[in-house]
This record gives sequence, C-alpha cells and structure tokens, in this order.
Amino acid sequence: MPGAAPNAVAQMLGLLGDEWTLLIVQQALLGSTRYGEFAAGLPVSHAVLTNRLQTMAAEGLLTRREYQIKPARSEYLLTPQGRSLWPVLTSIWHWERTWVPDHRPPLPAMCHLDCGAEFAPAVTCRSCGAPAGADDRGERVVAQWGPSGSWQRSIPAATNRRRSAGRRVDAASLFPETMSVIGDRWAFALLVAAFVGVGRFTDFQSQLGAPPGTIADRLALFCGEDVLANTGGRYALTAKGRGFFPILVCALSWAQRWFPAPEGAAVILTHRACGREFSPALVCDRCGARLRGAQIRPV
Ligand SMILES: [Zn+2]
Ligand SMILES: [Zn+2]
Repeated sequence: MPGAAPNAVAQMLGLLGDEWTLLIVQQALLGSTRYGEFAAGLPVSHAVLTNRLQTMAAEGLLTRREYQIKPARSEYLLTPQGRSLWPVLTSIWHWERTWVPDHRPPLPAMCHLDCGAEFAPAVTCRSCGAPAGADDRGERVVAQWGPSGSWQRSIPAATNRRRSAGRRVDAASLFPETMSVIGDRWAFALLVAAFVGVGRFTDFQSQLGAPPGTIADRLALFCGEDVLANTGGRYALTAKGRGFFPILVCALSWAQRWFPAPEGAAVILTHRACGREFSPALVCDRCGARLRGAQIRPV
C-alpha cells in the first residue's frame, strides 16, 4: 500500500536509531577511514564493527574503496549523505554534555577552529538568521504534517535490521539518553508529539495509535530522565526536553533532504519570526559564524 510507505522520518529513525552507526559517523567525521582506526577509536567488537561498516556502505552513509590489493585492504569514506550528519552529531554532543551529567569519562568540550573558542552550537533559521531554539514558551517553530506525513508512516517497522544486527547491550552508551529517544521508535514519536503540544495521556495514545502500556512506559521513562514533567495530568517538556529541539530539527532536516517522498515533505516547519519555511542552520555561540563540520574538534 503506497499510502503507508515509510516516510523520511521512519527511514531516518531506522538508520540513526543505532548508536554504533552514529559513533562510526562521528569517528569518520574526525578522520577515521580504516578498519583499524575505527576499532581503536570505539569500544566495539569486531563482529559488530564489520557488520556496521557493511550495512552503512549498503545504506549509502559510507563508500568502500580498496586502497591496497595484496593483501586486499579497504577504507571507508563518508558519502555526502553521511558527512551531512555532522549537525545531528554536534547537537547530540552538546545536549548530552549539557544535560546528562553522569558521563564517565565526561564528554570533552568542542572547539570551533575558525575562532578558536570552546563553543556551543546555536540553532538559527536558515532563511532569516534569527534564533530558533525553543525558549520558555517553546513556540518559535511551528510543525505540521506535510503530504507524506502521518504518525503511521513516521514510525519504522519493529523488524528493523538494527534490532536483529546488534543487541542494545553492545552499545557504547556514549549518548545514553539520546539513544533512549531516537533508538526507540515510540519514544521519538512521543517526544515529537510533546513538541507540537500534545500533553494528555489519552491524546498521546489516540494520536500515535500505540498501546496504552507503550505510552505509559515512554512517559515514565521521560519523566525519570527529566525530559517531561507531569503537572496535574498534563505532560510538558522541561528545559532539558526543550533542549532536544536542535537534535530533532537537524535530524528531520537531514531526513527530508536525503529521503524525499514524491508527494512532498513529511513535516513542514515554519519559523514564526519570519513566516518562512524553517530549515536549521547551526552557528557558533561565541563568534556567531555559521558552523561547518570540518571546523569542529573535541578539545
Ligand atoms: Zn526565519
Ligand atoms: Zn566560533
């Protein structure tokens, strides 16, 4: 049934819902290309690393190139699609550093090479340049479904390859709370619903079409992580929850760029300040310049 085909959001969650995939992209952005470099940079088993490099090449995030024939040796280079994930990784890094205090060892700060400062990424509107991160009122950007959008089409099938290819216990948990959002299809959908103003248990349930136990589990998880707070039966994003906005819009923007549907966008975002279609651009909070992936390094 073409009307129910997975849209850009579902395809994005299918790919990025795997922590190893994100960590391999991150290593590649920092310059790793060879198997031994990835293995040295990540606490990953050979079986999992081999599996991920192969699937990421098949899915178009990496391209494999033989650099030696006898014996055969390959390297893995980011494709434009893989390379353009840097805003998502940068936003995840910043959110985990800011809101998840129990990283062991702590995540390092990031340096913007253009200005030399330790910085935080700030999300702005690509059209008008004004800030777009959710503030206390949380409504600088309005979201509505586009022609390929619906909850049904945005939630990847449960039988995704990432679920059979690697158990979650394998993961490095460098981004533990991010993965509890984007590594779980219902959790992600629920958080998006919270961003567009859904607040009551019955509304989450009816909009997402998920079993009540599934909704209750995810709401309890988010309250436990202080992403949502329950006040008088209504769930609302906390400051930490609103801080997830850059990850959400960067991931969405990436998805819609690389997985366009013939009938149109899955989600249409509008920047209230300028009234134009919203697309995120990350800037350095110290020097104000537009960030580029190659100009960001851990300190
Ligand atoms: Zn704008
Ligand atoms: Zn800067």
